[in-house]
Amino acid sequence: MGGVILYVLAVPAAVAGVVVALFLHEAAHSVPILLAGGCVHVSIGSDSGRTARLGPLTVTVGFDGVRKLLTYGYFEWEGTHSKRVRALSFAAGPAMTVLVVATLGAMVFRDGTGPLSVCLTAIFYSELVRAVATIVPRTYSGGAYDGLDSDGKQLLDLVRS
Ligand SMILES: [Zn+2]
Repeated sequence: MGGVILYVLAVPAAVAGVVVALFLHEAAHSVPILLAGGCVHVSIGSDSGRTARLGPLTVTVGFDGVRKLLTYGYFEWEGTHSKRVRALSFAAGPAMTVLVVATLGAMVFRDGTGPLSVCLTAIFYSELVRAVATIVPRTYSGGAYDGLDSDGKQLLDLVRS
């Protein structure tokens, strides 16, 4: 019985883990901009919601459905025009997600079953999808990112410009 409850808890735990991983992705985008003296606004889940300000970093967390909470992260910046800094910023988000995938992969495939493993496996696959979706250069169509370019495409366009 207690085991079943733990498996049920693995679901919200995985949801929380994916949101944290999404935040890490956006936070990684922010680091080069912040280090270069710019300002960053990170949004998770929705563009409107609760907003907190910490010096040059503004974070908005909104709720517009579970699916969007798990997939929608956005960051805007101002105050830096350096091509190098922006290129680093575009690369840092997917790099962080790849790091999360590699770390989770190492944990998941080492020891097999149990609620924690189920939870970590779910986060692993979710972040694997995110890594591919953000690295492959393309313009998204449909969903919350309709019309926006992936991190990979923004990086390529910047490098070519
Ligand atoms: Zn990104």
